[in-house]
Amino acid sequence: MSLPDVLSRIRTAEARAGRLQGSARLVAVTKGHSLEEIRRKVLAHGNFPLGENRGQEVRDKVAEWTETAQGAPQPEWHYIGPLQSNKVKYLERVALIHAIEDVAQAETVARYAEKWGRAPGVLLQLHNGEAQKHGIAPAELSGVLAGVRATGLDVRGLMVMAPYGQPEEARRIFRVAAQRAHDLGLSELSMGMSGDFEAAVEEGSTLVRVGSALFGE
Ligand SMILES: *Cc1c(COP(=O)(O)O)cnc(C)c1O
Repeated sequence: MSLPDVLSRIRTAEARAGRLQGSARLVAVTKGHSLEEIRRKVLAHGNFPLGENRGQEVRDKVAEWTETAQGAPQPEWHYIGPLQSNKVKYLERVALIHAIEDVAQAETVARYAEKWGRAPGVLLQLHNGEAQKHGIAPAELSGVLAGVRATGLDVRGLMVMAPYGQPEEARRIFRVAAQRAHDLGLSELSMGMSGDFEAAVEEGSTLVRVGSALFGE
């Protein structure tokens, strides 16, 4: 699917749900793809945020951009993968970290942010209820939120991953996440991938992370 096709499906899903056009943003998941391909398939259509899930890959792409973009501003990089504390050092140019899972991770990010003189925004990853190892359990969410805020980082919202190929379960997970974000007064909701982004938009996603639909498998 081309980027304009994905975007038009997002806009149609917004309309179906009675949402404001443009209230769900597309994050193009660019892991494993070259800058040349990213420029051609994504950035040729606009300044979309780019999602990466490996620290070194972000660092390398940031450096390559600086070398080749002739002064054009860096794209808006998002880090969407599980966060290992020894990889935080690579995330200096990242605008948003999607998947904070505990206070210790946030403390590491906050320490680097002080050194960099700039801080990324963060989202907290919710556990999705199935046998998944990542994410914060519902009972711990408000405590983790308070702890992450105490580091000084700006918690913008929640992120959740739905199981692959289970549309009804995915929709249920999206709905629960949207309710939690609403209850906590958090405005950003990172949910929806290639297989389920339309349902995610209908349920209130503000950041859909789409990779293979744009780039192929
Ligand atoms: C790879 C990845 C995506 C994109 O998945 P697709 O199914 O290729 O769209 C979204 N979110 C996370 C966290 C990922 O690692």
